[in-house]
Amino acid sequence: MSESGQSPESAREGVSESTREGAADTPRGILFVISSTSGGGKGTLIRRLLDSVQGVSYSVSWTTRAPRPGELDGVNYHFVSAAEFQTMRERGGFLEWAVVHGNYYGTARSVVEQELNEGHDIILEIDVQGAAVVRQTLSPVVSIFILPPSYDILRKRLEARMTERPDELRVRLSNARGEVEQCRHFDYLVLNDEVERAAHQLSSIVYAERARRERQEWAARRVLATFHEPAEHVE
Ligand code: 5GP
Repeated sequence: MSESGQSPESAREGVSESTREGAADTPRGILFVISSTSGGGKGTLIRRLLDSVQGVSYSVSWTTRAPRPGELDGVNYHFVSAAEFQTMRERGGFLEWAVVHGNYYGTARSVVEQELNEGHDIILEIDVQGAAVVRQTLSPVVSIFILPPSYDILRKRLEARMTERPDELRVRLSNARGEVEQCRHFDYLVLNDEVERAAHQLSSIVYAERARRERQEWAARRVLATFHEPAEHVE
């Protein structure tokens, strides 16, 4: 089972007001949290989302895990030593952090705050512990859980990708049992049974969340104001 690296209370102390609320008239970006089990397919779905929907950015996490073949520093993760991670943590640089499958992972606070303040939507691809912290400390948050179709399919996907040693694979599969249970705490569930369909559903969630009335109030105010301007004379 994964360890919890931090209590929600400790994270809450460090959240700046600028993350909680923006200026009344500034359309703030939307914070999307996407979680799954290892091998649940969230990486593929998120890549498709970033390719197909404009105005969404991605928070590159920090980790002490070693890079897999093909992974790039600063693109997939910021790959750091345990000491570097610890220093960042002590400086309060993480919005949330957790120990997952034996490695440290954390979300850089400054990047997320900046993106949201600039009105960009941002995706945090984090585990269920991190998602729980973010849900309890930041508001509003849109949380999405990507559900694999079954345990057997998940196991086959993980075995086929051959990125973990057998002992690591066993840890990830055993943690998956607890992780899927957490899906009930998320706002949305996307069943990843078929990539096309799941990718479409994920982008639909982003579009629907953008269209929520409370997020459109700034635009509505502008439009409604035009209805109160003196009417032009129509012959
Ligand atoms: P992987 O090692 O397979 O890239 O990731 C392992 C798990 O760590 C995944 O569930 C992934 O979503 C999660 N993870 C990645 N970055 C972060 C992060 O910044 N914070 C937390 N809490 N989990 C993360």
